Amino acid sequence: MPRITQLIAPQKIEIKEIECLSAGPGEAIIEVQHAGVCGTDLALFHGDYPVPLPHVCGHEFTGRVKNVGNGVDTKWVGKTVTAEINNTCLAYGKTTLCTACKKGVPSHCQTRTVTGIINHDGAFADEVKVAAGTLHEIPSNVDPLIATLTEPLAAALQTFEMSPIEKNETLVVLGPGRLGILVIFAASLKGIKTIAVSRSETKRNRAIQFGAEHTFTPDNAIEEIKNKTEGLGADMVIDTTGNPGGITQALKLVRPQGTISCKTTCGLPATGLDMTQLVVDEIRLQGSRCGPFKPALKIIQSHQQKLKSLISSIRPLEETQTALESASKENKVVLNMRID
Ligand SMILES: [Zn+2]
Ligand SMILES: [Zn+2]
Repeated sequence: MPRITQLIAPQKIEIKEIECLSAGPGEAIIEVQHAGVCGTDLALFHGDYPVPLPHVCGHEFTGRVKNVGNGVDTKWVGKTVTAEINNTCLAYGKTTLCTACKKGVPSHCQTRTVTGIINHDGAFADEVKVAAGTLHEIPSNVDPLIATLTEPLAAALQTFEMSPIEKNETLVVLGPGRLGILVIFAASLKGIKTIAVSRSETKRNRAIQFGAEHTFTPDNAIEEIKNKTEGLGADMVIDTTGNPGGITQALKLVRPQGTISCKTTCGLPATGLDMTQLVVDEIRLQGSRCGPFKPALKIIQSHQQKLKSLISSIRPLEETQTALESASKENKVVLNMRID
């Protein structure tokens, strides 16, 4: 019988056996092989991002399509895939679409569920059920372990879809962790040199390996970045700190009429934000979330070894509890459901 790992209370995972999932219309059942732990999973695990419990976390995964429901092309069965996280009317192949899907913004589908996050059990399990329109086949020359990074890399690419940046502009990434490092890497592929800010020496060194030109600690960042920009501040600051204070720090580094790009989904409200500075300096705040999978998979295909180095440990499903506990201190923990 397939196992699922349920979050039953903050910081408490229970492993349970269930009946095999069955695919409804427009759905596919995936036998999960690998599932990465991300900051959102940690926010859910710690109860900072409250959702109805029990809940199965996990939305960055790869696996094999076991079966599909009515209306789904049976060619998918047996394919190795990853999946986008938004189960939208479009992705279910519904004939009547909501207004958001009709307007071409399906990631904001008004009837969506989000795999592993909103009203939808996720992939920290032997099997997961998703809307078939979310599936992407993993090319045979891509290691499915590394392809678990497709979803976060797509989210990193979305940053620049929402807020384009030019090569001569100054980009600062605050908190080069699991997501921030992918943002730095995505920027470097565009020929943009970033400045990474972190208290952690390990993270600063990793940022350099992934294309950052300079790194600073939060203590000297303001002065150094002012020096580099003739006192003006950075054109764009991306907050990937994963904590609600990141945006306040970003506000100290961005130039007037610059952009703060928000990537933190820690579930907690940002307090003490200086709205007056935001108005007086005409700062643009831009959130961004899910991004394009196809270009992300292409990047993974050509940089597998480099990206593999981001995976800090691989754990069996039985260790989901301890994996989530230690994930806050590691870069990328990946669960492998097929090992003991
Ligand atoms: Zn994620
Ligand atoms: Zn919709």
